[in-house]
Amino acid sequence: MAEYVAPLKDMQFVLKHVVGLGEVNRLAGWEELTDDVVDAILEEAGKVASEVLSPLNASGDRTGAVFRDGKVTMPAGFRDAYWQWVKAGWGNVLAPPDFGGQGLPHLVATPVEEMWGSANLAFKLCPMLTQGAVEALDTVGSEALKRRFLPKMVAGEWTGTMNLTEPQAGSDLSLVRTRAVPQKDGSWRLFGQKIFITYGEHDYTDNIVHMVLARMEGAPEGVKGISLFLVPKVLVKEDGGLGARNDVKCASIEHKLGIHASPTAVLIYGEKDGAVGYLMGEPNRGLEYMFIMMNAARLSVGLEGVAIAERAYQRALAWSRERLQGKPAGSSGPKTAPIVQHPDVKRMLLTMKSLAEAMRALAYWVSAMLDRARRHPDDAERRRCQAVVDLLVPVVKGWSTETGIEVASLGIQVHGGMGFIEETGAAQHLRDARITTIYEGTTGIQANDLVGRKVGREAGRTALAVIAQVQATRAELGRSGNEHLTAIGERLASAVARLEETTQWIVSTYGTNPAAVASGAVYYLKLMGIVCGGWMMARAAQIAARDLEAGEGDAAFLRAKVLTARFYADHILPQSLALSAVAMGGAESVLAMDEALL
Ligand SMILES: Cc1cc2nc3c(=O)[nH]c(=O)nc-3n(C[C@H](O)[C@H](O)[C@H](O)COP(=O)(O)OP(=O)(O)OC[C@H]3O[C@@H](n4cnc5c(N)ncnc54)[C@H](O)[C@@H]3O)c2cc1C
Repeated sequence: MAEYVAPLKDMQFVLKHVVGLGEVNRLAGWEELTDDVVDAILEEAGKVASEVLSPLNASGDRTGAVFRDGKVTMPAGFRDAYWQWVKAGWGNVLAPPDFGGQGLPHLVATPVEEMWGSANLAFKLCPMLTQGAVEALDTVGSEALKRRFLPKMVAGEWTGTMNLTEPQAGSDLSLVRTRAVPQKDGSWRLFGQKIFITYGEHDYTDNIVHMVLARMEGAPEGVKGISLFLVPKVLVKEDGGLGARNDVKCASIEHKLGIHASPTAVLIYGEKDGAVGYLMGEPNRGLEYMFIMMNAARLSVGLEGVAIAERAYQRALAWSRERLQGKPAGSSGPKTAPIVQHPDVKRMLLTMKSLAEAMRALAYWVSAMLDRARRHPDDAERRRCQAVVDLLVPVVKGWSTETGIEVASLGIQVHGGMGFIEETGAAQHLRDARITTIYEGTTGIQANDLVGRKVGREAGRTALAVIAQVQATRAELGRSGNEHLTAIGERLASAVARLEETTQWIVSTYGTNPAAVASGAVYYLKLMGIVCGGWMMARAAQIAARDLEAGEGDAAFLRAKVLTARFYADHILPQSLALSAVAMGGAESVLAMDEALL
């Protein structure tokens, strides 16, 4: 099939009309970022995604990154694509201007990042990790460390990694054992093993800057004894030039279900006299620092669900227009027709399309909130936006990635048997999507965070405020007099009532029976995702219906938007009934079962 094509119309519609690009652009420092400039950025990124990254997606999957003698060779074309991409300035869109970055709002970087993820998920991970390391260094690094490392990292000449996981420490980072020993010159020597490190070794650049969680000798047990260190693969001299090789080596890379072109490394620190590292920020605050970066990183991974859903949808749609089979129910046309005409195939395609659009709008809205939380002039508004971000980041991460997998699987179904055969490319999306619910915190961990830190502990304050916003939209839809908007409003009313009831149940149960809440936490996360996604679709439909009536804009696009939102309301929102019932009533059987009986 043709390469990925960025869904620019939908992206621009959501940015400008649904999530408030205009308001973000008015925030300090971004005033010159007019709608036209943003359009130009998106159009250019779309070209790079289609012409440079997408053509390498299937071949990168087939070849994979190769490990030999401690070195990793990237699949053919990846290194050139990386440099072409970096030289065009795509590596530093979010990076701080003081060190050569563009410092764009998250809201603008988000659709751009979605494009990289759709075009080539394995490629996208390297810049994502580098951006995380840049943010960590910019936020907590000393001025000297920033000066020595940031310019090259921002320029893409060196890449970055996040080293949290160890064989015995995955979801539970209190078990991190990597040791840090102080040196007379103020530096540290690190000893230990990290596993599953994305782009921990590759051949794009001369140096890789690892952000490593480790424990200082004598530090307290648990999460309060973990510190963050910067450990370069190659030591960097005072003048910024490269020195000797540091004592960190790649022992192997993993053979995986998907994202084959993304090297997942086992790194050994301190096989000889210890890997030289530099403390970031204060001792024992490493995990806290990681949490500062967590919102942006989890949003990025949530966006991978959106990206894969979009790509799987495009591929399935193209197939469904070409494949001829059978006569559609109720049709008086010829014996065989393109399968897109069968109501059930249309249902699958609409499921894929409506979910991709709902997830996109929600992810973009949360990105806009992140920008407002950082730059809004009003202190109270900054705090309100930050609370919304904190609440919804686990939802975007958990719901969008779980849904991305469902959508990729439906994409295979639309292809029939050929979907199961690798040549069509549909299978790669499902294999690639599978990791997204695991790394950067599993769905179970996101759900724990949502019901515990985000809803339970603040008595549901922010969740209920968001619910009130959904209810206000629902009331407007009821008064619209438009057939589709009225129907959407009715479904939304029922779904948001279930969300409110379940939220109240969590607030009243969390303190006395946290195990009951934890048993259904993932259902609650999905419920919140489905309702908030439905809210975004309802708002999009409102605006589209208004423009249609006024005779403004692209009529075909706007009509499709209203009907897609109607489909979402009819087919997806009713799932809220089941999710709510099981979130509140499913614990007994889980908790009654003795694990010995499993
Ligand atoms: C391809 C790939 C790339 C990765 N990249 C990186 C990277 O760049 N840097 C890095 O540091 N790590 C990376 N990881 C590691 C990744 O973040 C972990 O795999 C993930 O956090 C889960 O940890 P785990 O694998 O140890 O699973 P476990 O923690 O053992 O979890 C197993 C199961 O138990 C559940 N579970 C565990 N604890 C709880 C709990 N408290 N409540 C409810 N359920 C729970 C989980 O949800 C999961 O279903 C990567 C992993 C992979 C596979």
